[in-house]
Amino acid sequence: MDYYEILEVSRTATKEEIKKAYRRLAKKYHPDKNQGDKEAEEKFKLINEAYQVLMDDEKRAIYDKYGKEGLDGNIRGFDFSDFFEEIFGFEEELPYNIDILKEVELGFEEAAFGVSKEIEIEYYAICPKCKGSGAEESVVCKTCKGKGQIIIDNGFIRLAQTCPQCGGKGFIPKKICKECKGKGFIVKKEKIKVDIPAGVDSGMRMRIPNKGNEYTKGRGDLYIQFKVKPSKIFKRYNENLIIEVPVFFTSAILGDKVKIPTLNGEKEIEIKPHTKDKTRILFKGEGLPNPNTGRKGDLIAIINIVYPEKLTDEQRELLEKLHQSFTGEVKKHKNFLEEAIEKVKKWFS
Ligand SMILES: [Zn+2]
Ligand SMILES: [Zn+2]
Repeated sequence: MDYYEILEVSRTATKEEIKKAYRRLAKKYHPDKNQGDKEAEEKFKLINEAYQVLMDDEKRAIYDKYGKEGLDGNIRGFDFSDFFEEIFGFEEELPYNIDILKEVELGFEEAAFGVSKEIEIEYYAICPKCKGSGAEESVVCKTCKGKGQIIIDNGFIRLAQTCPQCGGKGFIPKKICKECKGKGFIVKKEKIKVDIPAGVDSGMRMRIPNKGNEYTKGRGDLYIQFKVKPSKIFKRYNENLIIEVPVFFTSAILGDKVKIPTLNGEKEIEIKPHTKDKTRILFKGEGLPNPNTGRKGDLIAIINIVYPEKLTDEQRELLEKLHQSFTGEVKKHKNFLEEAIEKVKKWFS
């Protein structure tokens, strides 16, 4: 079977992807979890073999070119205990997740144009006084002789396992550390400058590597989740923007020109005579950019015909005169409705 298939990754998988796939599969088929299962044992061996080859640039290149034959005699001679420390080593027992999720609120314009922001985070750091042990004084663990691991050798495979006596710490605490009150970690604050690309939306996340919580070999990642405040001017649908354009009823009938705001400055709209309510006008590419692709959405202007809320006596008189001048028109619509009523009535008789 193909090494890439064994690890369930593509031929172009990065080392990070291979590592992830390996970690998942090795856990699943680990002999500790599948005692006596020959198939799992075989699978576990294959997973390790595939991992060893694909993580080594030279071996991977040979394998890609010549297949397994090219590597024969080059795979054995491999110490599992070192290997396990390397791959599972960071999965130390921590009372917290190494990654942090932080919500950041943005104004509509900040999200639309992108912004450089300084944000303050709180993260867990390993106590500098006790180095994470939580103990000021301690004695070396007798079971593992301070190594934190014990080696299990079942004849076919050598496995390193976390020491059950000390939980992998290598020592037994005698006196609690005052700095961290025995927790082994402290809370630290940090200010981080983040360049937020244009076009982000609520719920989108951005990963900032190595700004998460601390563990013995480094720090996890910080994930920023955005919360974008709505705009009073534009309604947003992904990358598209909608603006409602109020047009006075006389302008809608007679025709007019109105100016509207866009993200790229003002634009003029020609209101043609007899424009209907809810008419849409499309401005292609005047929406927001997609933060990943840079592709821009559209701006859609929707005409919203508005009527006067109050009339002066003079305006009322003028309007009544106008109304009377439309007698024929008004009658036509009324007749249509009367006929409709008669028709519907017949349905029930
Ligand atoms: Zn401490
Ligand atoms: Zn121990």
